[in-house]
Amino acid sequence: MSSPPTSVLKGQTALPTDKVQQIGLLNAVNDKYGGVVVDMKEPMDSHIYVPLLRASISQWRQQGKKGVWIKLPIQQANLVEPTVKEGFRYHHAESNYLMLVYWIPDSPDTLPANASHIVGIGAFVMNNKREVLVVKEKHGYFKGKDAWKFPTGVVNQGEDICAAAIREVKEETGIDTEFMEILAFSQTHQQFLGKSDLFFVCMLQPLSFDITKQDSEIKAAQWIPIDEYVNQTYNREHKPFEYIAKICLTKSQSNYGGFSAVHTLTSSDPGKYFAIVEAAGAVDISLGIKLGVQYSLWGGSVINLGTKKHKDKYFGGIDSLEYPGCFAMTELHHGSNVQGLQTDATFDPTTDEFIINTPSDGAIKWWIGNAAVHGKFASVFAKLMLPDHDAKGVSDMGVHAFIVPIRDLKTHQVLPGIEIHDCGHKVGLNGVDNGALRFTSVRIPRDNLLNRFGDVSRDGKYTSSLPTINKRFAATLGELIGGRVVLASSSTSILKIANAIAIRYSLLRQQFGPPKQPEVSILDYQSQQHKLMPMLASTYAFHFATSYLVEIYSQMKTTHVEQLVGDVHTLSAGLKAYVTSYTAKSLSVCREACGGHGYAAVNRFGILRNDHDIFQTFEGDNTVLLQQVAADLLKQYKQKFQGGTLAVTWNYLRESMNTYLSQPNPVTARWEGTEHLRDPKFQLDAFRYRTSRLLQSAAVRLRKHSKTLGGFGAWNRCLNHLLTLAESHIESVILAKFIETVEKCPDASTRAALKLVCDLYALNQIWNDIGTYRNVDYVAPNKAKAIHKLTDYLSFQVRNIAKELVDAFDLPNHVTRAPIAMQSEAYAQYTQYVGF
Ligand SMILES: Cc1cc2nc3c(=O)[nH]c(=O)nc-3n(C[C@H](O)[C@H](O)[C@H](O)COP(=O)(O)OP(=O)(O)OC[C@H]3O[C@@H](n4cnc5c(N)ncnc54)[C@H](O)[C@@H]3O)c2cc1C
Repeated sequence: MSSPPTSVLKGQTALPTDKVQQIGLLNAVNDKYGGVVVDMKEPMDSHIYVPLLRASISQWRQQGKKGVWIKLPIQQANLVEPTVKEGFRYHHAESNYLMLVYWIPDSPDTLPANASHIVGIGAFVMNNKREVLVVKEKHGYFKGKDAWKFPTGVVNQGEDICAAAIREVKEETGIDTEFMEILAFSQTHQQFLGKSDLFFVCMLQPLSFDITKQDSEIKAAQWIPIDEYVNQTYNREHKPFEYIAKICLTKSQSNYGGFSAVHTLTSSDPGKYFAIVEAAGAVDISLGIKLGVQYSLWGGSVINLGTKKHKDKYFGGIDSLEYPGCFAMTELHHGSNVQGLQTDATFDPTTDEFIINTPSDGAIKWWIGNAAVHGKFASVFAKLMLPDHDAKGVSDMGVHAFIVPIRDLKTHQVLPGIEIHDCGHKVGLNGVDNGALRFTSVRIPRDNLLNRFGDVSRDGKYTSSLPTINKRFAATLGELIGGRVVLASSSTSILKIANAIAIRYSLLRQQFGPPKQPEVSILDYQSQQHKLMPMLASTYAFHFATSYLVEIYSQMKTTHVEQLVGDVHTLSAGLKAYVTSYTAKSLSVCREACGGHGYAAVNRFGILRNDHDIFQTFEGDNTVLLQQVAADLLKQYKQKFQGGTLAVTWNYLRESMNTYLSQPNPVTARWEGTEHLRDPKFQLDAFRYRTSRLLQSAAVRLRKHSKTLGGFGAWNRCLNHLLTLAESHIESVILAKFIETVEKCPDASTRAALKLVCDLYALNQIWNDIGTYRNVDYVAPNKAKAIHKLTDYLSFQVRNIAKELVDAFDLPNHVTRAPIAMQSEAYAQYTQYVGF
């Protein structure tokens, strides 16, 4: 497609190589779309012009040129008629020139049309007496109409919308204002000169109050109460005006956000921030992760590992995206084992700088999000090396984070000493620009050390409130758990989308049925219910558990209560690992549950599965994270025997160790009544019993093996056991939160529905691990059978409210997007998509 070659029109001389200049031809420059542009700067007689034009067209035709643009300044108006006679048509005109165009080939003309829209503004200005600034116009559409309206006008070429709004208010009423935000916009067609109109309603704050009306255009201008403005007859009779008036009224009551800038950094309001990342990720996972890298990782490292000087310098730029950045921890040879990082940062006291260096290929920073394209800064994790005058020469103070500028703020060129490459095409998440970085003696000021947990003075002395490298390392990593919280809740949100697509489709899709009767919906098959209903129950369970995690994370950020810190660390590691692994598996189940249509890319399972898959690995590999949970449980277990206190989430272990480790009661092991099986006490007891047993037996085994294998060897010998323990504990926490939510639910019918879902979650988990319960006779054979039967029955019951349960996720269609999830519209949208 050809398009107006503005750059060539402005600067022909800048493109001498493109010039087609021959004797007897018009001067022309090539545009980027296979066409040519002639700017008739010099006057010319039409008798000379016409033969030149014909010869030129003939030449351009031979050269395979397409569109021809001839720009005639007003002084060359004599050439308009001859040009039109040669087959040219008008394209557009400005006050000083006319642009004519001609399409040479026989193919359809694809020259772009002239600008299609004009842009207008309406200014909503309200004072602190809830009066709005309104005018009556002398001319135009509103002439003679008894209606108050906002000051309005057209945005000039090159003028910002906000500047236009301020200007129009000043011109029409003499009031000075400050632009606040855009509240709404509308698009209408066939307006002035037949163009379409984009009209923006801008909210402005008055800075002065005395009106001086513009006599030439304005009949009257004044402040009137907002209710009076909204309730005018004119507005009531004209829907678009009424609609806009109501938006302004709602805004004035603080019930509408408009298009305000939302502060996104984690420190301002973690809950809100997590919701934003989750919502963005629901639309496109790469977008959610880009946000996460910018705010949780790069922003989070500056805010949480830096001190006031860093916040003052970087906060604004990170928040406004002026300082896009990355989080450079992982290296080619080291990912999970962060303490093994090799990049070093050596302090040079002569220049008061750190020198960042990549000592070997294994130390190249790898997988760094935002590095390949957008990042201007990186928080680089490196060993802090100090020149030391003792026998050792230099001393390694352990891994610290440093702010390293990687690209020029203005030109975006990679800075000297830094080499950056894209990590290449990935299995998914290709909307994120992961890069590899090598540093060769890159100097940064001493101030760029993120010095919350350790600092270096001007004379090269190291200070820290934490005595050992290990303690500093733990404190540093501990500050970075926000990313895990966001992944746990985003993964739940992706699971909701997959559920919504699979369940809506399963309700619609019909295959087979009893003889001579209509086909049945595939969700009526027990096998389909078995695939999808426990998954739906888990999704609800994860929703409540991750909401709780977000809540205690936010509390931790504001209160810094010691016990809460430990709880949040372990729960964020455990839930991130548990939920992301579950979602990864479920995405394949959902795909398969939708048969062949589940395989169509447009129905999204492929991209969801590929983009989400890495959630299991980054922000801590799941297997590694679950070990942290197990290690913490063992620590708590040990403390219990030493009489210490337990963190909140572990409280149940206090009781459980005494109650649960006694032999299971042979009588209750046989109880099989529905009421008993649906009793939350039975369910929670069963979960906790399993965790307590696993914990106690892990502790015994570790003690035994460490005598012969040492700590590392013993841990490895018990590793699978420890992972099961961690998962079991996380499941206990998830169930406890679910039960609590059901009990607190104020609406009786919602409570009944949630209880059903919660029972399915609990009994299905017990059934999945029935071998463990049977092995220790916690559940007798008759009870196991009853649990299985009840699980199937509950799946059937949940199927009956599956539509409502999915609707309650409140996912708009433009987020779900898969045509097969569009309920009654599904087949129509799907056939349309492939071209019918
Ligand atoms: C798309 C993408 C984006 C990323 N973005 C960033 C970023 O912005 N910044 C950044 O710093 N990093 C980033 N990473 C790196 C990511 O954080 C690491 O890949 C992750 O921490 C895992 O490390 P690894 O790849 O070295 O895996 P490894 O640690 O080598 O793990 C490989 C396997 O070994 C197992 N394993 C490892 N240790 C143990 C153990 N102790 N016990 C049992 N099993 C073990 C793991 O379970 C895993 O199965 C990104 C990675 C990817 C793929």
